[in-house]
Amino acid sequence: MLDYSHADWKSRAKALQFHSQAFIGGKFVDALSGRTFDSINPATGETLSAVAECDAADVDLAVVAARRAYDSGSWSRMAPGDRKVVLLKLADLIRANLAEMALLDSLDMGKLVTDAATIDAPGAAHFFQWHAEAIDKLYDEVAPTGPGDLALVSRVPLGVVGAVTPWNFPLDMATWKSAAALAAGNSVVLKPAEQSPLSALRLAELAAEAGIPEGVFNVIPGFGHTAGQALGRHMDVDCLAFTGSTQIGKKFMEYSGQSNLKQVWPETGGKSPNLIFADCEDLETAADMAAFGIFFNQGEVCSANSRLYVERSIKGAFVEKMIARAEATQPGDPLDPASKMGAIVDARQTEGIMAAVEAGKETARLVTGGARAFVDGKGCFVQPTIFDDVDHNDPLAREEIFGPVLSIIPFDSEEQAINMANDSIYGLAASVWTDNLSRALRVSDQLVAGTVSVNTVDALSAQTPFGGMKQSGFGRDLSLHSFDKYTALKTTWIKYKA
Ligand code: NAD
Repeated sequence: MLDYSHADWKSRAKALQFHSQAFIGGKFVDALSGRTFDSINPATGETLSAVAECDAADVDLAVVAARRAYDSGSWSRMAPGDRKVVLLKLADLIRANLAEMALLDSLDMGKLVTDAATIDAPGAAHFFQWHAEAIDKLYDEVAPTGPGDLALVSRVPLGVVGAVTPWNFPLDMATWKSAAALAAGNSVVLKPAEQSPLSALRLAELAAEAGIPEGVFNVIPGFGHTAGQALGRHMDVDCLAFTGSTQIGKKFMEYSGQSNLKQVWPETGGKSPNLIFADCEDLETAADMAAFGIFFNQGEVCSANSRLYVERSIKGAFVEKMIARAEATQPGDPLDPASKMGAIVDARQTEGIMAAVEAGKETARLVTGGARAFVDGKGCFVQPTIFDDVDHNDPLAREEIFGPVLSIIPFDSEEQAINMANDSIYGLAASVWTDNLSRALRVSDQLVAGTVSVNTVDALSAQTPFGGMKQSGFGRDLSLHSFDKYTALKTTWIKYKA
């Protein structure tokens, strides 16, 4: 556990060196065009680094390097137990560079450095470790075909995996995709979000230091419509793992259909409901967690509990608890361990959040927040904001805002709560608070969501699959099920004289 003061983090930030070139074929290289784009710290507006702006030509180079590495067998044909040793070393290297990894994400996208140092960076190390430890414990199958026939059903890596990730958890999203894909023996070409490419570039260097052979893990920073699209349309990419918005997830399905029918696994948006029943005994914890569910990471969480349904008999008191918690979560300098909330990723996202808030002021009752905030007179910050008595059909309750904005909606019966919770295009996560066991099971059973958390929010671990239903996408990250995305089942049928 790092115990740095505000001054410590600031001086470490000042001394930090950034990798700003693409990592292709085991080397840091400029974009072929020579172009760069600025990576900006949203808390201060300062430019951190000019980063290589990769486009289709660089994507092609990276895919060629990845394919060559795959075909060479240097990684793909390495014994799983040997791949495990390398990936465990990578996990150790992330731990050894924890403060740096945390700072890169904090500076690049505005999250609290203490969250990055206690949740994101240790999480990345843990996810690499978990997938590494799993990979030499997965057995394949012998089919029950009978004498004279031996039919082996084995999992084989797919080849070249493209990964396109968002900016809200830069290091962890890069890890969720690449840990399982690499453990399974694939080569990876990762395009991180243009808002936050720095930690992925450092991860590439650590991967090489751990012993991942050249060409096996490539990182190409760049924009979505150029580099992202080129990866999605590439004829020699076998699988495209995507996390981001529903709109762009749909585009990747189109790219696949218009190119080589590569597998596409979209993990997309959400508008997750949190249901508070009056029979929940610990309403203080429910309120603490409901606030965490929407204000953690500035609300920039795909599974953020942005719709809060509260049983009418307790709603007034519960709203008061939520207001108190929101007011105690004001944004501050992301590098200050005393800050409760960080900066929004960039000016565009901040404007989008504020547009939704301004529209909400016309249709619902603003009970706290509702304005931009500044730290030392600058930066992209938004006050924690709560609207009460939101109409279930209001855009506030239907559209993903991806910021610290909570909509509270009363309900009168269990059936009504379930119906409203499920009446959404999304189905990523849901939470239920009750001390009635039958109700907990009955409601969880009916909620359409990839993860239902009972008496907690956003339950997540390496051991359990994470992903959505409906337009929150499909495919699962984490757990042994994540290997399903990155492997194909192959049948080898052998005839013999019985
Ligand atoms: P986004 O969809 O705008 O971008 C995600 C990635 O796609 C980025 O790398 C971007 O460069 C790329 N991209 C953008 N346009 C593209 C195009 N035309 N072609 C190819 N690639 C393109 O999403 P974002 O704003 O970075 O992230 C926020 C979204 O991510 C939210 O909707 C959030 O819910 C979602 N998200 C989902 C999960 C999950 O696991 N389901 C996790 C985190 C974030």
